[in-house]
Amino acid sequence: SSATAAPAAPAATHCPYCALQCGMELTPVEGSASSAAAVAAPAPGGRAPLPVAVSPRDFPTNAGGLCQKGWTSASVLGVPDRITTPLVRGADGELAEATWDEALTLVTDRVRAIQDRHGPEGVAIFGGGGLTNEKAYALGKFARTVLRTPNIDYNGRFCMSSAAAAGNRAFGVDRGMPFPLTDLGGADVVLLLGSNPAETMPPFVQHLAGARDAGGLVVVDPRRSATARLADDGQGIHVQPVPGTDMVVLLALLHVVVAERLVDADYLAERTAGYDDVVRSVSAWWPERAETVCGVPAETLRVVARRLAAASPAHGGRGAYVLTGRGVEQSAQGTATVTAAINLALSLGLVGREGSGYGCLTGQGNGQGGREHGQKSDQLPGYRKIDDPAARSYVASVWGVDPETLPGPGKPAVALLSSLATPGGPQALFVHGSNVLVSAPNADRVRERLEALDLLVVCDFVPSETARLADVVLPVTQWAEEEGTMTSLEGRVIRRRQAVEAPGQARSELWLLAELARRLGSDVHFGTDPAEVFDELARASAGGPADYSGLSHARLDADEAVGGPGLYWPCPATTAEHPGTPRMFLDAFGTPDGRARMVPVDHGGPTDDVRGDAPTYLVTGRVLQHYQSGAQTRRVAELDRLVPEPYVELHPQLGLRVGVADGDRVRLESARGVVEAVARWTDAVRPDTVFMPFHWGGLGGVNRITSDAVDPISSMPEFKVCAVDVIPVTAA
Ligand code: SF4
Repeated sequence: SSATAAPAAPAATHCPYCALQCGMELTPVEGSASSAAAVAAPAPGGRAPLPVAVSPRDFPTNAGGLCQKGWTSASVLGVPDRITTPLVRGADGELAEATWDEALTLVTDRVRAIQDRHGPEGVAIFGGGGLTNEKAYALGKFARTVLRTPNIDYNGRFCMSSAAAAGNRAFGVDRGMPFPLTDLGGADVVLLLGSNPAETMPPFVQHLAGARDAGGLVVVDPRRSATARLADDGQGIHVQPVPGTDMVVLLALLHVVVAERLVDADYLAERTAGYDDVVRSVSAWWPERAETVCGVPAETLRVVARRLAAASPAHGGRGAYVLTGRGVEQSAQGTATVTAAINLALSLGLVGREGSGYGCLTGQGNGQGGREHGQKSDQLPGYRKIDDPAARSYVASVWGVDPETLPGPGKPAVALLSSLATPGGPQALFVHGSNVLVSAPNADRVRERLEALDLLVVCDFVPSETARLADVVLPVTQWAEEEGTMTSLEGRVIRRRQAVEAPGQARSELWLLAELARRLGSDVHFGTDPAEVFDELARASAGGPADYSGLSHARLDADEAVGGPGLYWPCPATTAEHPGTPRMFLDAFGTPDGRARMVPVDHGGPTDDVRGDAPTYLVTGRVLQHYQSGAQTRRVAELDRLVPEPYVELHPQLGLRVGVADGDRVRLESARGVVEAVARWTDAVRPDTVFMPFHWGGLGGVNRITSDAVDPISSMPEFKVCAVDVIPVTAA
């Protein structure tokens, strides 16, 4: 059995949600006598008392803070519609309870039949960036060795793939933040592009205090978000470009840096390659021209460029950081836009230097680790390329299989979902920890593909929109019910610890994959003990860019016991214990010659044409109270009460023009379809732009109308900008 007795003592663990992985302690609650009764009191709606009380821990990323999501996270353990038994769709079309044996027998028989008919690639897997490192690793191994299918990808493709592609290309290795988050506090300037941490990860904001005090917080966002308001109050600058033109802002900033001779020439000569081509690529983007495209005043662009340069070490500043988030990354030119940000940081000599740098704010809880262990279509554990013969041989030797049997690269997420149930495409899909019906772009098309499958198996702990469509639902353990590791947005490997027993028949995916492997006749070993799986993962990663080979659960526990804050990869197994690598690239980049690559890029603009029938930009984003597809947070009564439904933010000028008053219902129509929600007037958005959070499905599920055009390099979809028509909903 995968179940182990839950400890009675408090468990030092981390929040189940975002990549900040705030430290928290979970104290099991025994009856009503608990000292933590305030948290353990019956949840609203008369639910059973929560099994644990949450309290924040002093961990470097959160320094004792938690956001509303973290404070209420224990509620997810006790949601009333928790899936506690396998469910199988019967002849009547309804999901009905089944035993594990019945469910797995059905799954195994159907997988066999489908693969007999369609070959190994007839079955696909869609994973998640919230899975532990151990589960992400086991999933990739299961796909390649048991199913032998190339068709595995995951929702991280929607999250950080363009930043990862740009980072890999520039630095030879991608670690979202190649420095500890706490380093940000010492900088004079932080340039934050397309990120809203004041809502998505509020405790992060304390790390911006140094830059705010220095008047150097610069937030680039078409919307005056909660984070932009932090810069707008005299402690920085809010740059508000036309949606989809962040690239132009970056090209113009670099133009100013070059034209005013603010570059770090020594650094460029010693540590980079490709600068001359990049100079040529920005020569035409003088600020006045950029202003005509991005709408940002030329003088603002000059001021930002000069402030950034003045903060750089070359000019005697305390340091500067350039940080990107989904706002600039979720674009069909996402890799190019992040490359423009990296070019700017490199020109100023910021990267690979203590106190300055470039980083990407990864969003999902294990968005970093999730991309390193092999659930990505093009990668093997250790963040190795799947088409690298040496990597294939090595990983195959750890798995005990012939490298010739390992499939090659599979389809990235959008292509994978689009190919489901098409001739030659997968006819069966396993979904692990992902709610694609809400989180994938052009989601109605995804629904069509899922409905056409011969077999849809969803492994989850709540009946998400996607789970409700499944032929078989398998109940899995979550967060505080299991042991494992996660890797924070800074590459810090941390322990997730069990605090409570899983309810009913919920089992870990590690057990599930081992059981399926056995039933499918595989002789490849799949461990069910997370510590054992981690040891294998660490071995498989040895020598790769993301080298975990010097780490183990025991070492991470020992480090934490003496107050250590987790260990950063790369942490290779060496004779003397390797200390891990908090700061990367201090001596050399991960490229063959140790130099960072500067790659010229240019502005292409959004794929949708914002004219004619659809004259308004739609941008999407998040709210403080909800996480990703909302499958968890919409079930937390306190959070649901605060933000119970989707809404459309629009500027009063636009509202007046199209006849939509504050509080009216409004319809947005794109080339993909239609959504409807309540309108909120606000001057936080531009008059040419509407904003919608994406945490819901149904009528107000905004991803039903977002674009599934993808970035040619990373396959990141263009979630962030699409063209819509804004239409009043008149009473029938
Ligand atoms: Fe921290 Fe993120 Fe959890 Fe909020 S959701 S408590 S910011 S880890």
